[in-house]
Formats: sequence, structure tokens, C-alpha cells
Amino acid sequence: NDTLLEVKGLKKYFPIKQGFLRRVVGHVRAVDGVDLTIKRGETFAIVGESGCGKSTTGRTILRLEEPTEGEVIFHHSELGPVNVEKADSKTLRRIRPEMQIIFQDPFSSLDSRMTVGRIIAEPMIINNTLSGRALKDRVAELLTVVGLRPEHASRYPHAFSGGQRQRIGIARALALNPKLIVCDEPVSALDVSVQAQVLNLLEDLQERFDLTYLFISHDLSVVEHIADRVAVMYVGRVVEVASTDELFYNPKMPYTEALLSALPKPDPRNRVRPTVLSGEVPSPANPPSGCYFHPRCPYAQEICKKETPQLRDVGGNHLAACHFADQLQLKGATPLTEVP
Ligand code: SF4
Ligand code: MG
Repeated sequence: NDTLLEVKGLKKYFPIKQGFLRRVVGHVRAVDGVDLTIKRGETFAIVGESGCGKSTTGRTILRLEEPTEGEVIFHHSELGPVNVEKADSKTLRRIRPEMQIIFQDPFSSLDSRMTVGRIIAEPMIINNTLSGRALKDRVAELLTVVGLRPEHASRYPHAFSGGQRQRIGIARALALNPKLIVCDEPVSALDVSVQAQVLNLLEDLQERFDLTYLFISHDLSVVEHIADRVAVMYVGRVVEVASTDELFYNPKMPYTEALLSALPKPDPRNRVRPTVLSGEVPSPANPPSGCYFHPRCPYAQEICKKETPQLRDVGGNHLAACHFADQLQLKGATPLTEVP
């Protein structure tokens, strides 16, 4: 069985409260019916503009947020398939070590009063896996694995650069031998020159420790570099899923085309038809009718205002949610090899 994680109909609504009595007057549909299947050993990216629900999806999958509806099945190495959202606290304690997270901001996600050694050791102390000499050795090993040095264990986070702090965060995430790591914008706070180093480290670690990544990012260039498959999210829904090459060079959903048109072009002369995204991202508290993209879509027809397009296979495991996915000839990214 090569499936590690299945997400079915996942929803996360946040109540909007108003007035003195804090009455619930509506809901922000942050995640509005997400289905995903993630295979063992792959890097599966979720990409979308800020506020599209990608981070909330990641956090709800790990049950750092309670879902409003839906199922997450995690295939645990010993327990087999476990419904994360229904798991009791005892089961959660068993499965949590195998599902870890790396946060966007290594500056605020590390406790500045703890030594780096303590930060990395903490999950092992909490889960009672190692202590004493063995724990110290393991911390030294983890520091080496992420490209730092054992003597760094006695220092504090402020002594490190952004890239090094992200390495510390990665070492901590590796401490309990995870199978799945949710990487939530792991390089977005870093300088471009450092981003590539951290992405390369993540790729090395994946190979070495058989890791599966759910990689959340707003940055298509980063996603193209690291992902095997990509899901595009828009206003709480998945609107396209395909292998990275398919998604970038043969997009089937107009929103994806619009996102790709904003990528920097390798050759300035190729900037023939930039599909500029007009209009605002709709509010997930009050989304439009039908296809959520219709107010901004250059191809929208009458049906788009009335009927919600379902995410469906448009050929070769390429899923798209667009009424006209089979008819439209959309423009993908410009391949680097096209530069004369
Ligand atoms: Fe555009 Fe209609 Fe397709 Fe939505 S369903 S992306 S509005 S063409
Ligand atoms: Mg986010």
C-alpha cells in the first residue's frame, strides 16, 4: 500500500461572532471540502494565495485544529490506517510522533530561552523515548544530520542565522523518526540564497529517512523545485491536482494559469500574454456563487455563476474543477529550455 495519508471532505469553519453577546452571525469557510491522497515518499505541495486555507488544511490534518467535518486517514507504521480526527488521546500519542510539522518562521517557533539542545531534545523527553547519554548523543546526531555541529547544542537560538534556525526546527521535527512532515512555508522567511540550501537539505533528508512531505507554499518557484505533485487551493477548495510537470506546463484550470502567468519569465521577450489576475480574492466568509473563481475568470460563462464545478479527472490523474477544463487551451509556465 503506497498511500500514507487520505483526506476526505475536510472542512474547517471558524464562527464569526458579533456584538455584546458574541452571537454567531456567520462562518469563515477556511477549508471547504478538501480531498487529497498523499503517497509514501512523495512531496505533495499545496499552493495558493495567502488566506486560501492551505495552512489551516495542514494544521487540521495534524489535528492541531479540530475539523468541522471530514476524515483524515493516516497509515501508521504499526497501527495501520487510523482516523486522525476521531482518534482518542491515547491513539493520538501513538501517531503524533510519525506526523510532524516545520513552521514558516524559525524565529518565532523556537523558544528563545531554551538551548538548541533542549529544543531538539524536547519531543524525545515528552515522549519518553530517550534520556541521559543516549539523548545527548541523539541530539548531537540530529544536529549533524541537518548540517550543524554537536557543540551548537549549548547555544541559544538568537546566536543563529535564519537558515540555521530553520535547520534547528528540522532537527526537532526529525527527533521522533516521523513518516510525514507538514512543511508550512518552510523557506518563505529566508533569503533567496538560503532558500535553496534548505530545500536541498529537505530533499536529502527525504531520501535518507524515507520521508513524505506535505509542502505548503504560496511560492510557485519553490513548489516547482521541490514537489512531485501539486494541489492548487482557492478560497478553501482544491481546484486542480496534477504532477508538477503537468500542472506547470499543461494547466487545466484558469486560476492555475493566472498564477503561472505571474512567474518570472526566463526570457523577457516571451512575455506575450500575461493573464493579470483582476479583482480581489473573495472572502471565505461570503464566497461567490457557483465557481468561486468566476468573478475573476477571463473564460467565465453563465453556468459558472450557477453551478459549482466538481474536482474531476480530466485525463491521466490530472484533476481540475472547471466546467470547461476539456475545452480551454490554457497557457502554462515557460520552460527554461525555450530560451534561445
Ligand atoms: Fe472559469 Fe467557469 Fe472554469 Fe470557473 S468553471 S474556472 S469561472 S471557466
Ligand atoms: Mg499560511
